[in-house]
Amino acid sequence: MAVNTYSSGGAAVLLVEDDRQLADMMTALLEEESYRVEVAGGGQAGLHMGLTRDYDVLIIDRGLPVLEGLELLRKLRANGVGTPALVLTARGALEDRVEGLDAGAEDYLVKPFEIPELLARIRALVRRHSDTAQSLPVGARRLVLANRMVVDHHGTHGEVALSERECALLAVLAASPEQVFSRPQLLERVFDRADAIGTVDTYVHYLRRKLGRDVIHTVHGVGYRLGSP
Ligand code: CA
Repeated sequence: MAVNTYSSGGAAVLLVEDDRQLADMMTALLEEESYRVEVAGGGQAGLHMGLTRDYDVLIIDRGLPVLEGLELLRKLRANGVGTPALVLTARGALEDRVEGLDAGAEDYLVKPFEIPELLARIRALVRRHSDTAQSLPVGARRLVLANRMVVDHHGTHGEVALSERECALLAVLAASPEQVFSRPQLLERVFDRADAIGTVDTYVHYLRRKLGRDVIHTVHGVGYRLGSP
């Protein structure tokens, strides 16, 4: 294989594929690219592994016995697993693709696929994951910021779509949960210094509306800190 300047950095991949031969072939390829690969031979095993272990990317075959791929993905998403997912399918129709995206897949690849295509898609997902995924403690909950979605690990809040700026504000507060930030500090760290100071309050309001009043605590006369919802 040609020398590849990209390093996967040992990213962890969960491959859910019932075709043993294909799974072995993909595992060998991915390991050659320094990924750590774990294979589940069916949907139930994939569900168990996806819920109990941490991965950087999920590769899920759509056609699985008992628990089919999209159903598996829906269950993972419903349980707060926000890991980027690539769905493999033997069908390439538009409605299949839409169904896949609806189930929470970030990307979709039609079998048979070219190896470089597969590797490129996985690289993109891993990059996206490491760029955006942060796990933040917020009170008794853990929020996962991934692809601009806040996902409550306990599943009580479901998924909440946040804008880039809302995410950035929440991430700054959650990174130092004890610290009280003044509004000028938040303006400088999250927004544009040229923005009005009221921008901070506006985004605090947005986050409270989406995640509950208690998500951010007002310290009167000082500023804001992470709340304990
Ligand atoms: Ca299959």
